[in-house]
Amino acid sequence: MENILILHGGAGGSLEVQNKNSEALRKIGKDASKMNTVEEIVIEAVRLMENDTRFNAGTGSVIRVDGSVQMDAAVMSGNRFASVISIENVKNPILVARDVLNKSPHSILSGDGAIRFARKLGHDPYDPRTERTMEVYRKMKEALDKNSQDETARYSTFRKYADLYSDTVGAIARKDGNFAAAISTGGVLPMLRGRVGDCPLPGCGIYAGDKGAVAVSGNGEEIIRRMLSLSVYLEIGKKPLQEILDTHISNFNSPTGIIAVSESEYSIVTNAYMATAVVDLL
Ligand code: ASP
Repeated sequence: MENILILHGGAGGSLEVQNKNSEALRKIGKDASKMNTVEEIVIEAVRLMENDTRFNAGTGSVIRVDGSVQMDAAVMSGNRFASVISIENVKNPILVARDVLNKSPHSILSGDGAIRFARKLGHDPYDPRTERTMEVYRKMKEALDKNSQDETARYSTFRKYADLYSDTVGAIARKDGNFAAAISTGGVLPMLRGRVGDCPLPGCGIYAGDKGAVAVSGNGEEIIRRMLSLSVYLEIGKKPLQEILDTHISNFNSPTGIIAVSESEYSIVTNAYMATAVVDLL
């Protein structure tokens, strides 16, 4: 089967946002397809999505309850995996994850250590907040303050603002028999400082190996519990890919999306709206 790149712009949002963002993803996918290796292609796709303020990754990442922006990103291909957790004040978390992969002896760097590492490697200080994320944050703070008596009410009021966003971004690719996946996110709303989602955890938000690649979007807490990406990956080759994804998505009530590619198939499923693009690679 041909070489292929698949991108997603997060499960959730509306039909209108899905359609607009899918258009943006097609262009990003075409640009990323010019890179050489399968790993470079998915990293470039995610870097470009991080730079697009419409997506909740890199610039445009959601702001946490305490006013900070902490981002997660990961890349996986073959036997290689690296991620950064809760990184702050960098433009492209996925490029820091790439540096963890290529220039550190570790698989995962988090928080303060990830930031220090990024600075040493030349990732300059950068504020990923935008007018839009600041506005959402202000509204959320207002809603939180109004419900300051009851913690549960505070959080459910807060949660509705999550719908304003397309969420996590992800890319998977197959090229000349090799597979890779990369993902990046600002996280979910509401979110406490220090909360870690599924994205930077192998087998949860991301998985790639010699049978294929998987990337997912949705509520990190639920995805982690189900080890969703690895669960999908382990079934590759045993059933049609579409059937595997359909079965897994049926376990989720909250907006969730899965993209997966194997040697002979690819599949995209969501129980909500999700911007996606499929681009042929040379
Ligand atoms: N999975 C991401 C997280 O929980 C968010 C998303 O995909 O929408 O951090």
